[in-house]
Amino acid sequence: MAIRNIRKEGDPILRKKSRRIDKIDDRVKTLAMDMIDTMYKAEGVGLAAPQVGILKRIIVVDVGDGPIILINPQIVSEEGRQEEIEGCLSIPDKAGVVIRPETVKVKGMNLEGDEVEIEGSGFLARAFAHEIDHLDGVLFTDKVIRYVDK
Ligand code: ZN
Repeated sequence: MAIRNIRKEGDPILRKKSRRIDKIDDRVKTLAMDMIDTMYKAEGVGLAAPQVGILKRIIVVDVGDGPIILINPQIVSEEGRQEEIEGCLSIPDKAGVVIRPETVKVKGMNLEGDEVEIEGSGFLARAFAHEIDHLDGVLFTDKVIRYVDK
């Protein structure tokens, strides 16, 4: 396991679309473990592969209930609306209010290749939505309605 370098706003890789993962090989598994280490080291609650320079559709999230790894994650349904302050490990100097769904249902694969479906509300829903946006090159600053002091 290793800590990877987190790419910062302005790095063009953060604006690119990530590719689907067809095969969960050792490289993908190592990447997932490294992403978890990197997220914890940076004291973040989520990380997407493009943030460590890899254009693959994989996210890791931990909002305090243990790590979740999702491969090819997709929001399949959403409900409600929340308006909260959000930040990003790639944009450490900014924070702002972003509107997100209150609840999302996310489908993807775990590291064993099993299909999983997870429903998250509140902070977890926000983390999923934020990280999945990264896989399409979307940053929270694209959606912010008001910046706040950090
Ligand atoms: Zn982010």
